[in-house]
Amino acid sequence: MKILLVFAHPEPRSLNGALRDVAVAELQRLGHEVQVSDLYAMGWKPVVDRADFPALASDERLVVSAGSKAAFEADALTPDVQGEIDKLRWADVLILQFPLWWFTMPAILKGWVDRVYACGFAYGVGEHSDKRWGDRYGEGNLAGKRAMLIVTTGGWGTHYGARGVNGPIDDLLFPIHHGILFYPGYDVLPPFVVYQTGRIDEPRFEATAEQLRERMRTLASTPSISYRRQNGGDYLIPSMELRPGLGAPGRTGFALHLRDEDAASLPQRTAIPAG
Ligand code: FAD
Repeated sequence: MKILLVFAHPEPRSLNGALRDVAVAELQRLGHEVQVSDLYAMGWKPVVDRADFPALASDERLVVSAGSKAAFEADALTPDVQGEIDKLRWADVLILQFPLWWFTMPAILKGWVDRVYACGFAYGVGEHSDKRWGDRYGEGNLAGKRAMLIVTTGGWGTHYGARGVNGPIDDLLFPIHHGILFYPGYDVLPPFVVYQTGRIDEPRFEATAEQLRERMRTLASTPSISYRRQNGGDYLIPSMELRPGLGAPGRTGFALHLRDEDAASLPQRTAIPAG
């Protein structure tokens, strides 16, 4: 397989840097082709601005989605953005790796998404009418590919459990899993989360590294999170609400967008180790 790992940590000698090396080495040992986009090392420009749309007349008002669509369709995206789009088209599997910073991804990675997910490529795809709301949430240009997160946290596993004060990790990662990865079509694998990173000694690092190698070995076979597909019949059009009768009684929030049989086992879905 072809794998793109997008890495967002400023220090190569970090825990994240060490885990990235473990993942890449295992993938290469298995014969996969791997590319790494190391965003800090690349000096990735993390903000969308006028410089992203050189063809835009200097007196024209910038409307980001329109400018993005025009540049995408005219093959006029900046070379850094086009390069990342080419890698996404190339890769069968996308891995995003980052430390959890303020309960989400570091700004540089969010800026990668903002800029690389061009209109017409990652959103604004397919028919938009009163009968159909585009190709998204399970359909789109990245359908048929797989994606997963490698995330490290300072907080403990219990802090991110079903009753943990930080909120459940599945909820915190939902905007990335569902909004950034499932939206343009990826099948999303359960995340690999390393908790309590302030307390990592050599034995725990080795155990974590082996668990990560196992996830790399099972990239093609790990069942994906079974989100409901937008155009699979579960949602009303154009309100995009879940149809009455779907979703377990009393269930609200993010879990509604899992197929009912999976939502029933939600608290256990992302295994949280003790500690
Ligand atoms: P490092 O600091 O590099 O290392 C962590 C530990 O791993 C150290 O003990 C180190 O000795 C050990 N280690 C590193 N490399 C190796 C190796 N090769 N072999 C063995 N041991 C090794 N946490 C939360 O839970 N929620 C948040 O919202 C949150 N927000 C944050 C916001 C900011 C701005 C910052 C800076 C941190 C935040 N944190 C938060 C904590 C953050 O998630 C962790 O600090 C981070 O995940 C640790 O990953 P790292 O790669 O930076 O680890």
